[in-house]
Amino acid sequence: EAKKAGRGELRFFSDAMNAAARDALVIDGALRHAIAANEFRLEYQVIAEAGSGKVGKVEALLRWRSATLGTVAPDRFIPVAEDSGLIVELGGWVLEEACRQAAQWRGGPLAGVRISINVSAWQLADPGFVPLVEATLARHGVPGALLELELTERVLIDDGPNVRNVLERLRALDVSVSLDDFGTGYSSLSYLTQFQLNTLKIDRAFVMDIEHSTRSNSLVHAIIAMGHSLGLQLVAEGVETDGQARILARMGCHYLQGFHIARPAAPEQLLLFVAPRSDAASGAAA
Ligand code: C2E
Ligand code: MG
Ligand code: MG
Ligand code: MG
Repeated sequence: EAKKAGRGELRFFSDAMNAAARDALVIDGALRHAIAANEFRLEYQVIAEAGSGKVGKVEALLRWRSATLGTVAPDRFIPVAEDSGLIVELGGWVLEEACRQAAQWRGGPLAGVRISINVSAWQLADPGFVPLVEATLARHGVPGALLELELTERVLIDDGPNVRNVLERLRALDVSVSLDDFGTGYSSLSYLTQFQLNTLKIDRAFVMDIEHSTRSNSLVHAIIAMGHSLGLQLVAEGVETDGQARILARMGCHYLQGFHIARPAAPEQLLLFVAPRSDAASGAAA
C-alpha cells in the first residue's frame, strides 16, 4: 500500500502514479481535520417530475472547501475517504445535515420534498448504519419517507446477503433506496429482483447520447421499459438539453435530473428555484 511505503519504495512509482499517490496523501491528511473544521456543506440538485417539471426530490451532493487545498471535487476526495474508512464518519455527517435540512424545510415551499443522499459500501456494511439512520431521523422529527439512499451496483455485489437485510430494515423505516449510475457498474439484471429497490437512476453516459445515437436511445428505452415492468421509478441523470428531456419524458421516465433542469445549489438558491414556480400561473418571471 503506497501510503505505508517508505520513500525508497515510492521512488519506483512512475511520475504519474507518484503524483497521484502524493495527491491522495495530501487529501487524506487534510480530510482528517475537515469535519471538525466545518469545511463541508451540502448542495442540492433538483430531481424534477418529467411531466409537470415540479421538484419531485433533491439529491444532496457533498462539497468540500479545504483551508489548505481550496475547493476539492467529490471525485477526488470520496475515493480517498473510502480508502481510509473516513467515509463512514463523513457519510454520518451527510445524513445528519440532510435530516437537519429536511426538518428546516418543514412548513415552507420545500416541505415534503424527499432528500436523496449518496451512501458508500462501507457505511452500509457498518452494523450501526440502520440504527443511525433511524436515530437521526427521529432526533430531527423527520419521517423516513423524506429520505432516500443512493447506492451503486458495487455495493450489491460486495456484500449481497447483508445488503439485502439492510434494505429490508430500511424499507421498514419507509426510507427509499435507489440504484445510482445504473448501467455502468457490474450490472446484473438479477439484482433488480433480488434487492428491494425503489428507483433506478440511469447513468449520464447513456443519457448524453440519446439524441444522436440509436444504440443509446434503444438502451435507455429498454431500461425504462424494464423499470416500468418491475414497478421501479426511473430517474435520468445528466439531462443537459431540452431535446433529451423531451425524449426521456416521451419514453416514460418519471424524473429528470441534470444541468438542463438545475445545477446543484445551496439551500437558499433552491428556495428561489421553487418560489417563482408556485406563482407560475400568475406569469411571474424567474
Ligand atoms: P452522483 O451521485 O452520480 O451525482 C451526480 C453527479 O453528476 C454530481 O457530481 C453532479 O453535480 C453531476 N451532474 C448533475 N447533473 C449533471 C449534468 O447535467 N451534466 C454533468 N456533466 N454532470 C452533472 P458531483 O457533485 O461532482 O459528485 C460526483 C460523485 O461523487 C457523485 O456522483 C457521488 O458518486 C459522489 N458523491 C457526492 N456526494 C457524496 C456523498 O455525500 N457521499 C458519497 N458517498 N458520495 C458522494
Ligand atoms: Mg447520486
Ligand atoms: Mg449518479
Ligand atoms: Mg456518479
